[in-house]
Amino acid sequence: MRKKLGVLTSGGDTPGMNAAIRSVVLAADDNGFVAMGIKKGYAGLISGDVSRIKPEDVRDIANMGGTILKTARCREFMTDAGRQKALNVIKAYNIEGMVVIGGDGSFAGAEVLDRHGIPTVAVPATIDNDLPYTDFTIGFDAAVNLVISEMAKIRDTMNSHERIGVIEVMGNQCGDIALYAGIAGPAENIVIPEKEKDLDEICDRLVSERIKGKTASLVLVAEGAGSGIETAQYIHDMTGLEAKAIVLGYTQRGGSPSAADRMRASSFGIHAVQLLARGNGGRAVGIRNNNLFDEEIKAALATEPRAQTQLLEEYRILSRNG
Ligand code: ATP
Repeated sequence: MRKKLGVLTSGGDTPGMNAAIRSVVLAADDNGFVAMGIKKGYAGLISGDVSRIKPEDVRDIANMGGTILKTARCREFMTDAGRQKALNVIKAYNIEGMVVIGGDGSFAGAEVLDRHGIPTVAVPATIDNDLPYTDFTIGFDAAVNLVISEMAKIRDTMNSHERIGVIEVMGNQCGDIALYAGIAGPAENIVIPEKEKDLDEICDRLVSERIKGKTASLVLVAEGAGSGIETAQYIHDMTGLEAKAIVLGYTQRGGSPSAADRMRASSFGIHAVQLLARGNGGRAVGIRNNNLFDEEIKAALATEPRAQTQLLEEYRILSRNG
């Protein structure tokens, strides 16, 4: 009888989760496993929402946003009783290894499964890019692309009305979405947790830009560094300039994954299954300096946030002509 391997998506959905599922299912087949799909993350493990997922089931999903397995946040899995139910379901289905696709909370859950004797590999998927052990998480690139395309639209209308656009973006406690979009977009000012917050300096720059004839500017505010609405109010109060807050919200999580997301998702999924095929559980897969690697989930979760010194210096130079 072929061994069974379970796969679930958990936490916030991200573009590219489907590409990761596809990769896990096809790599499972390649390694002689039967893939079992678990719906709604850990909630489906507890309720027994488990069914076989065949290679033909993942034929057309690599380009799709969201996750065909659905995702959820599950408080019950945080309790001993909930975890025991999940472990019982895993055993009842004879699942011998698990791939968990999600963010840091999901990783903590994956570590729990592994510690309880179910070899489990964690695959990083969150638009926030807030798992610093890996350079990139699945979904981050699509989110940045989405933000820069919204910035272009916002800039048009801000230009017409001579306004400051203050755009709040996601990222949890990580400023990467704002930093990357600030460089690539570009935006004249960013407010991120990795950079000392100086709204008065931003106000001074906005005023001097206006004196020099620049009629519109964008300020990107990472949610971990403040509120877009409050920042816009502060700018208006301090400068008298008209500042409009735009909170991009969930639009950042939707849509088709970028090519980079699909490539990373595909590599991560294959690598995760190959680890399980070799009997290596408790690992997190990631990419660093363009190299695929894996390390203990615990070590991955303990990695300190990136300082982003180089990108911040690049941003400083590129935002000089504000
Ligand atoms: P996102 O980055 O999108 O928020 P996430 O994976 O961090 O994704 P969380 O809501 O933090 O999202 O976690 C997802 C689920 O993982 C939780 O609902 C819970 O079931 C499980 N989980 C979180 N933390 C733990 C933990 N410490 N131990 C066991 N399970 C956990």
